[in-house]
Amino acid sequence: MKRPLRESDIEKYLVKRVKELGGECRKIQFIGRPGAPDRLVMLPDVGLRTDRTIWVELKAPGKKAEPHQLREHERMRKMGQRVVVIDSLAGVEELFK
Ligand SMILES: [Mg+2]
Repeated sequence: MKRPLRESDIEKYLVKRVKELGGECRKIQFIGRPGAPDRLVMLPDVGLRTDRTIWVELKAPGKKAEPHQLREHERMRKMGQRVVVIDSLAGVEELFK
């Protein structure tokens, strides 16, 4: 029987897809401040319609971001950052549309 998808499976898929697109994907931690998204995705200028810089919080399927994470995401969005929460492989694909 197949085990359920974990956050780390979705993260690995994100890293793989970004690499395939020629982008860079970095694991993130803010020093001295909780709530940083898990990954920073940087995409090359290859005509994708998406933003080229995207902060991604990954979650296991059906799991939501914690309140302190959501607060940090809002602070970042106010500064024009694109921050997304992804809890599925399909959600990773949505990023690049
Ligand atoms: Mg996470």
